[in-house]
Amino acid sequence: MSTATQIIHSIPVDAQTGAIAVPIYQTSTFVQEAPGVNKGYDYARSGNPTRAALEDIIAKLEEGSTGVAFGSGLAAIDAVVKLLESGDEILAVDDIYGGAFRLFTHIYGKFGIKVNYTDTTNVENVFNAVTPNTKLIWIETPTNPTLKISDIAAIAKIAKAHNCLLCVDNTFASPALQKPLKLGADIVVHSATKYLGGHSDLIAGLVVAKNKELGDKLKYIQNASGAILSPFDSWLVIRGIETLNLRVKQHCANAQAVAGWLQQHPAVDKVYYPGLTSHINHQVAKKQSKGFGGVVSFTLKNDSEQAATKVVTNTRLFKLAESLGGVKSLLCHPAQMTHKSIPAEKRRSAGVADSLVRLSVGLEEVEDLIADLDHALGLATSAAEAVAAQTIAGVDR
Ligand SMILES: *Cc1c(COP(=O)(O)O)cnc(C)c1O
Repeated sequence: MSTATQIIHSIPVDAQTGAIAVPIYQTSTFVQEAPGVNKGYDYARSGNPTRAALEDIIAKLEEGSTGVAFGSGLAAIDAVVKLLESGDEILAVDDIYGGAFRLFTHIYGKFGIKVNYTDTTNVENVFNAVTPNTKLIWIETPTNPTLKISDIAAIAKIAKAHNCLLCVDNTFASPALQKPLKLGADIVVHSATKYLGGHSDLIAGLVVAKNKELGDKLKYIQNASGAILSPFDSWLVIRGIETLNLRVKQHCANAQAVAGWLQQHPAVDKVYYPGLTSHINHQVAKKQSKGFGGVVSFTLKNDSEQAATKVVTNTRLFKLAESLGGVKSLLCHPAQMTHKSIPAEKRRSAGVADSLVRLSVGLEEVEDLIADLDHALGLATSAAEAVAAQTIAGVDR
């Protein structure tokens, strides 16, 4: 079955009423016929039919055994780390999502879990960095904001050989483009806040386990810790998933056009997008995903915060905001926003230059988006030229 059909028909018709949309079960508890005798639900932290529908849908889409829905992407990530024990080590991609870095290092560091960061875009680095205590390998592909690509199948082989779990944060690709479990990963996590929800109107997280044993452990952790997704937000994510394939296709097409256009703009230095043949791991991206996603980053020839600020404050369609994956185009300046807490030298050496701008390319007509960027880049360029002219005039005097 094609992905489009599979996604649309992964959403069940309500068995009780025939409702074509999944009903919202806004209830805290379920009446029992006798103690312990119920219709499959007892208390809504442990299970809710609307949340269960979403959990089944995401398990099907990622082709895993068990889905678990959380109140945020970070709550989903947190549940995976709770599979570990004190003394265990995580080997993680160096360009990891900032929130995951904070959780691993500053929270779980206190409980005796150690994290080693490495550039997983080169498989050899992973091979060299695993230790006998590595119990979890953590990758994102593509990463944020420099769109690094790691080879999921190759890293899965290393994880298997070392008897440790591989978890892939599949937020940027979504199951419409990439299915890590089929490539050998054990766990997939999502910030459903992004492409799965797709409309910038909720915060949610999902975990999918490859097998039931791991799935049961994650469900146990969720019930014990309590970070569940509400029935209404579960319903919103399901509604988002209905159009996932269509949206992601258009995000990819728009992003590819924007990335190609940026590449030839005189004010632009580097363009980061896995769909460009100039991307270092373009072939790996092509091998493991059906498309390259909706996020594009670029740097300016005038590599300064001021020039980037000029760009991000002068677009009209691209709205200045953190987050990505929604219908409306967004842009952000990582050095002053998402990556502000990282010391400047460390940030720069991770490839996040002072002028790096990240775009979440939305679903507007792509010509309008390009015209919007052209206008903002033009203002940034003329400002830079004015500064340069002043400097020269200053030198002359
Ligand atoms: C946004 C994001 C997260 C965190 O998800 P929240 O829903 O904001 O908690 C994790 N990983 C990636 C790659 C993200 O983009």
